Amino acid sequence: MNQLLTGKNILVMGVANDRSIAWAIAQSLAAQGAKLVFTFENERVEERVRKLAETIPGSTLFPCNVTVDEEIDKLAETLKLELGVLHGFVHSIAFAKTEELDGLFVDTSRDGFALAHDISAYSLVAVAKRVYPLMTEGGSIMTMTYLGAERAMKNYNVMGVAKAALEASVRYLAADLGQYGVRVNGISAGPIRTLAAKGIKDFNSILRQVEEKAPLRRTTETAEVGDTAMFLMSHLSRGITGEVIYVDGGYNIVGI
Ligand code: NAD
Repeated sequence: MNQLLTGKNILVMGVANDRSIAWAIAQSLAAQGAKLVFTFENERVEERVRKLAETIPGSTLFPCNVTVDEEIDKLAETLKLELGVLHGFVHSIAFAKTEELDGLFVDTSRDGFALAHDISAYSLVAVAKRVYPLMTEGGSIMTMTYLGAERAMKNYNVMGVAKAALEASVRYLAADLGQYGVRVNGISAGPIRTLAAKGIKDFNSILRQVEEKAPLRRTTETAEVGDTAMFLMSHLSRGITGEVIYVDGGYNIVGI
């Protein structure tokens, strides 16, 4: 099984450093011959993402802060000019204020609620809206979610509510875009130590619980998520849309 993605142009949003889930996804996609376009959030991460992107021959890099419509418009225009056709879009972006990821959900502020939903859920819709017209040969869109969308998990708080909105968005987008040959899915990953995870209080105890309770008795590796994302971007998954696939060592099936 190799070169499943030769000739495919795929947009990867959400690389911040070499621990990012989006980076592991990029490696799995590149290994199958995909041409990758990366974006970075701001100048603070630009240099780091540029260095990583340079290790993948043929890839390109553009700025895009997903809270700014003009930046997404510009990205879509650039993709049209540079590539013409897009085959895939990987969305691996989330944000919530640190103070919202601690204590009680009931204390969530109006601002914090709006910001978490804007960046972590609406951004999928905002980008999909602008890139699906470029998927003229059919396409695959995927996003990253977490079990906190379905269960009230300690300290995940407003991010869980935003992930629920994200998962519902996956279903609505899938229903809309199927007629254009565009599939939309999510991967629900087990906890992985990344920059985003640093914001979640007591993350170590969450990892320990997974090691103890997950059927596979270990935590999730980014490469496992990367390979599932590759499957979702490839024709191997051509019959699947509107789904959330768990890559969590089976943790979600276990009664606590
Ligand atoms: P990460 O910090 O490496 O990635 C988060 C990315 O979001 C960063 O690249 C950051 O630049 C980007 N981002 C935030 N605000 C942005 C904005 N306004 N515009 C553009 N980009 C912005 O952490 P990660 O763990 O790789 O997270 C990737 C995705 O995976 C997130 O959706 C996260 O919720 C999800 N996820 C993570 C875990 C985990 O345990 N790490 C588990 C399940 C799901």
